[in-house]
Amino acid sequence: MQDDLLVVGFDLETRREVHVTERPPEHWKRRGYGGTEQLVCFYCFHGFEAAPGTRVPLVTRGRLGGKVRRHFAHPAGTAPDGGHHPETVWHITTKHALAHWTRTQPGVAAVRLEQWTPDHDRRADVAVRLDDGTRLALEAQRMLMTDDAWRTRHRDYARAGIVDVWFWRPGVHFPHVVLDERLPV
Ligand SMILES: [Zn+2]
Repeated sequence: MQDDLLVVGFDLETRREVHVTERPPEHWKRRGYGGTEQLVCFYCFHGFEAAPGTRVPLVTRGRLGGKVRRHFAHPAGTAPDGGHHPETVWHITTKHALAHWTRTQPGVAAVRLEQWTPDHDRRADVAVRLDDGTRLALEAQRMLMTDDAWRTRHRDYARAGIVDVWFWRPGVHFPHVVLDERLPV
């Protein structure tokens, strides 16, 4: 999988993160570059490799069944030098993939994808409620986390009665305390 292909954009009108597969390409083309231009680069707008608030209307590429899967792209000459960091793109893309996958699973009553915030706070990337009332927090972790930081987070979830499930980016060194707690990695 190409880690840095952009599949998440930001809709200035709805103020929501959007995934390229949510709508047909024509929908995004009407809203992107050369259209209403409300569909902008999520990363540039949120201050990654660009000044916060930077609006870069996106183009939509790829077709269903084509060689390249559908994705968004900066118009020529508008991408930051070197593009956006693969770790950041992985995190946002994975969050959306987890939410999408969870919605297709049986026994799931509700799935909430948290909108990205700079402080991230203690909110899960994806919050899930099952039919039996069980609450899950899905976390996509792209960076090294210390044992203490992870343990604090894990205990906060436990105290709130939430089962936390962690997804680690391939190649990331996850805290060994995760294994001590006998959680899957
Ligand atoms: Zn960008």
